[in-house]
Amino acid sequence: MAKPKLVVFDLDYTLWPQHVDCTVDPPLRKDKNGNIFDADGQAVKPFPEVPRLLEKLRQDGYQIGAASRTDSPPVANQLIKLLDWDKYFDYREIYPGCKVTHFNKFKKDSGIQFKDMMFFDDEMRNIRDISKLGVTAVYVTHTGMTMKLFDEGLAEWRRKNEN
Ligand SMILES: [Mg+2]
Repeated sequence: MAKPKLVVFDLDYTLWPQHVDCTVDPPLRKDKNGNIFDADGQAVKPFPEVPRLLEKLRQDGYQIGAASRTDSPPVANQLIKLLDWDKYFDYREIYPGCKVTHFNKFKKDSGIQFKDMMFFDDEMRNIRDISKLGVTAVYVTHTGMTMKLFDEGLAEWRRKNEN
């Protein structure tokens, strides 16, 4: 069955339940058991199904991108590194501003058309902006990213790209 070539995720409240520019106190550190804490001793973890989902997408041959408009790109990048996710992200655009800029860069760098991309984000303004480009953009609720939501997004992408 047909599938998108590039799957892009927002970071804050999509892959992890934090706003790294305001609810996380840097620097982050990882203890010997692999747990991540901020400077206040707060545990920082992804949403529970996200590690398994990223691994599955990689195994299934998708390219993966991160699009974030955080005011703290270094903290976001540090968290990605500590989570051992550098290996998953083929593309990342992490800086403030409208995400149309981020997606134009994905298209330029990857050569992948917008219709062959899928995007997950917990903010409706981003879903609206990116849908207009022709990307299948899926709204993420308070549960964060789940396997089920990915499958629903994939079904929506297939409906839009049937012909
Ligand atoms: Mg977000």
